[in-house]
Amino acid sequence: MINKKKIGILGGGQLARMSAFQAYKLGFDIAILEKEKNSPAGQLTHNEFVGWVNDDKLLKQFAEECDIITLENEFIDADRLKFIESLGKKVIPSSNTIRLIQDKFTQKKTLLKNNIPVPNFIEVKSINDYERISAKLGKRFIVKSRKMGYDGYGNADVKNVIEFKEAYKKLTNRHSNLYAEEFVKFSKELAVMVVRTKKEIKTYPVVETIQKNHICHTVIAPAQISKRKLKEAEEIGIECVKAVKGFGLFGIEMFIDAKGKILVNEMAPRPHNSGHYTIEGCVTSQFENHVRAVLNLPLGSTDLVKQYAVMINLLGKRNGEGTVQNYKESLGEPNLHLHIYGKAKSRIGRKMGHITIVGDNLNVILRKAKQMEKKIII
Ligand code: ADP
Repeated sequence: MINKKKIGILGGGQLARMSAFQAYKLGFDIAILEKEKNSPAGQLTHNEFVGWVNDDKLLKQFAEECDIITLENEFIDADRLKFIESLGKKVIPSSNTIRLIQDKFTQKKTLLKNNIPVPNFIEVKSINDYERISAKLGKRFIVKSRKMGYDGYGNADVKNVIEFKEAYKKLTNRHSNLYAEEFVKFSKELAVMVVRTKKEIKTYPVVETIQKNHICHTVIAPAQISKRKLKEAEEIGIECVKAVKGFGLFGIEMFIDAKGKILVNEMAPRPHNSGHYTIEGCVTSQFENHVRAVLNLPLGSTDLVKQYAVMINLLGKRNGEGTVQNYKESLGEPNLHLHIYGKAKSRIGRKMGHITIVGDNLNVILRKAKQMEKKIII
């Protein structure tokens, strides 16, 4: 029999918050570790630990408080996760899986070794490396930080030697190691969530993601591509999770090029922005299946409840309070699902919430979602 388990989440942002809601829904408890008090997830619980993973004593206290530990981003050094494991507490996904994912160069090498299609890539060794790199990738390529990149912050699009040197200086200021990737002329970006326990592996519907300024903006489920390509993307998603010996929930981002070839961009060992639509769009949300997988419980159905779902991120439109300014207008569409993350401050471009509409007519729900996104002021 399973008692009231306490799931520890490393990180207290919106992904932890939405996972926490689902843990409570199933009757479990949570604990949150985050650098600052009153984080989106920290404000939901008395088990709020303030500090960070480099503090051995705090991490030990946190681990002792929890039955099992998971995370909401891939930025915590795998060695810190290994430390938790050495205390006798399980981390899902494990430190070994995170080690293969958190360095994007290692991740790409791991996927390639497992025959998973990825864009061509190569290590960046010095500021004088343009010729060597362009000989393999062509004149235009993307330079990426190996670690800590998110929402495009660790990336630079390079078209010549001058831009390469600028990118090198900019990115090495903050991140020591870089690699370069072929510039993919994609026709669409796709993503698929995969959830795995010791007994089961399930995929969510493959979605189409539309980024603005490198940040995920709109998600359409299912992606408007052929059934054959949907199946192929699902299978590639499963192979990616197996390649990193992953258990728990994973988001896999992919490109599909003009010829229909699918290439994996990157994978995330956690709930993913492209899976927020599953809260109302699927029988069991990514967050609930995340909780179930962490506890190695039976997984829920990942089927869509209607034919389509559209999710749009609400990015900060001003600098100020992190609350909706116009609730009456924001809730004016009865089919809209509004999610606000409870961040203290809004900043222009910051992820503050999202909206989802599900339905059987894609054009109608897409139009409505776009209209509502314009109206909501946060
Ligand atoms: P992050 O981890 O910061 O989100 P990604 O590596 O996923 O960064 O890149 C963010 C976006 O930049 C992608 O969604 C895609 O639109 C674009 N991008 C990334 N890599 C490539 C590439 N090799 N070719 C073309 N566009 C790319």
